[in-house]
Amino acid sequence: MNKLYSALIFLCVSSLALAQRPTVDSLNNLLSGAQNDTARMNLYYNLGQAYARVNMDSSILSLNQALEYAQELQLKGSEVSISDWLGYVNLSVKDYPNTLTALTKGIEIAEDSSAVKYTSGGVLSERERISRLAVMYHRLGNLYYYIGNTNEQRKYYLKAREMAIQSLDSGTIRFSEAMLADYYLQVEKPDSALIYAQNALYISNKIDSGETWTFALLGRIYLQKGELLKSRSYLQKALVEGEFEVGYQGGIFLTLAELTYTTLDLDSALTYAKKAATIFKNRRLQNEREESYTLISKIYDKMGMPDSALVYLRRSAVLKDSLITEEKKNLMAFQNIGFGQKYKVQELEKEKIETKAEIRTYSLGAGIAVFLIVALLLFRNNQVRRKANAVLGEQKKNVEETLVELKSTQSQLIQAEKMASLGELTAGIAHEIQNPLNFVNNFSEVSNELIDEMKDEMSNGDVDEAKELANDIKQNLEKITHHGKRADAIVKGMLAHSRSGKGEKVLTNLNALAEEYLKLAYHGLRAKDKSFNADFKTDFDPDLPKVNVVPQDIGRVLLNLINNAFQACADRSQRAEHEYKPTVTIKTELTANGQQLIAISDNGPGIPPDIKDKIFQPFFTTKPTGQGTGLGLSLSYDIVKAHGGKLEVESELGKGSTFFITLPT
Ligand code: ADP
Repeated sequence: MNKLYSALIFLCVSSLALAQRPTVDSLNNLLSGAQNDTARMNLYYNLGQAYARVNMDSSILSLNQALEYAQELQLKGSEVSISDWLGYVNLSVKDYPNTLTALTKGIEIAEDSSAVKYTSGGVLSERERISRLAVMYHRLGNLYYYIGNTNEQRKYYLKAREMAIQSLDSGTIRFSEAMLADYYLQVEKPDSALIYAQNALYISNKIDSGETWTFALLGRIYLQKGELLKSRSYLQKALVEGEFEVGYQGGIFLTLAELTYTTLDLDSALTYAKKAATIFKNRRLQNEREESYTLISKIYDKMGMPDSALVYLRRSAVLKDSLITEEKKNLMAFQNIGFGQKYKVQELEKEKIETKAEIRTYSLGAGIAVFLIVALLLFRNNQVRRKANAVLGEQKKNVEETLVELKSTQSQLIQAEKMASLGELTAGIAHEIQNPLNFVNNFSEVSNELIDEMKDEMSNGDVDEAKELANDIKQNLEKITHHGKRADAIVKGMLAHSRSGKGEKVLTNLNALAEEYLKLAYHGLRAKDKSFNADFKTDFDPDLPKVNVVPQDIGRVLLNLINNAFQACADRSQRAEHEYKPTVTIKTELTANGQQLIAISDNGPGIPPDIKDKIFQPFFTTKPTGQGTGLGLSLSYDIVKAHGGKLEVESELGKGSTFFITLPT
């Protein structure tokens, strides 16, 4: 397995961030004059970061001090930042247990977004919180690198990248891409590494930062790929970029040493390797130092200087030995960390998964509950609807039955009305026929007698007298013919009336029709009630053109209206008003807009305003039972409407009423 440079490089990056920070001395001075614990905490924190460049032990001490203040002051945001730094410093001195403790603590707090507050009292912005989490997950990945667990290492790098992307912070994203590139370099998958490194380079160029690291990374990737020219070019670029960044230079020099060793440029290789070794020595980076000694030994060996080679091989062996002992110690200590701590991160993960599962379970439960409630509501609704439907069904049945009853009653009543009007008609007809029949009978009898007389006169030889009598008889016969024909017309009219409703429209003179029905109505009423007496007048427009109507139907309308008019008059006359002269008037007229108007007026009691709207409704009647069906006006209304006309009423109480029939010509 190849060496991972990320931890090393990250160490350099972090040191880089310190470039602008105050020195240890100035901080120590400030510390002695600090006013309160918050100020002290901040100073220890800054001191810890400043020491990280020169003395790791002092750095750890200061940071632990800062952490104590932060915990006391309950400044969670500060706790996160300090823990992160503690993780970083402890890891760079390979103190794995403390690295894990610090990072676990930092991650635990930072995961709870609500708890995190900055030292200044301000809330750690969501973006800063996530960026910080990304960094800590990276460090955790680095820790697992040292422990030799590449699976965990990759897992936390990917987790860090996920966080970085969430943070939308280009610097953090670039960093996580570079870390993954490092990882793939470490597991000797340079092609995968190249993809991540190119991502990192793209972002570096965009934000104009982190180029040194990315160039160094690309140099190592191309070295691994065997593309030495490209590798050298990137490494030189890295050197130029990172001229003043001592931290970076160790790694770059070591890679350059490897590269020149490969190309057998042994002098350069030796120079680079020694430069690297010095830097690593100063920075107490024992692993890297050991690695550079091994390389130097190999170079001397290739140079044909076995003594020097041996010296460095020994140095390397001593370092390796102490490293192995230290590593063992560290690893042992790591193994010995309490179960709770060691697996805290895993637990955190597990907890998260469990929480998710819980949420899912609760959601499912809630979903089922909602479903049940909805189902229950639907079921209830359904039942209510069913009940309502049953009630509605019952009501519908009742209504239908009522409707059937009503229809039969209606047809009975219509029949009754027809019979009634037929009755009235028959009475009128009977009277009308009776009259000519009387004439016919009388004239025949008289003629019979006259013939006997004529016979006698002829026997007597009085021819003149006989001739006189013959003339009388002739006149009588003419009268008989006249009245016979009259009766014939009446019978024909009656037959026509009996066919009413099915009749065809014929051109009709409304004056004649009105006259005929006026007489029929009058005599009908007179036939029923001998005491009935009323005057009637006609005011016919002689120029009224014939109109296309069904005469029987319009006749029925006239009969209804005239009957009503006479009955109204009769009503009033019964109240024995002295000077009351019951009169019904029928007037016809051609209106200005060419319509035919028949107005039937009476001087009866008039129609009370409150029933005026109801009189055209079927079955509305104010007459005593048996006398009125309440259908006359409604039928009349329908007939007139069927002819395209209008039936209207005007009435004044105590003065009388007028019904207007308007028909289109
Ligand atoms: P009916 O004559 O059998 O009562 P109608 O439909 O012909 O049925 O008339 C309905 C009602 O209108 C009558 O009962 C009466 O109250 C009122 N009515 C109709 N014509 C007149 C009129 N000329 N004068 C006063 N009231 C009338």
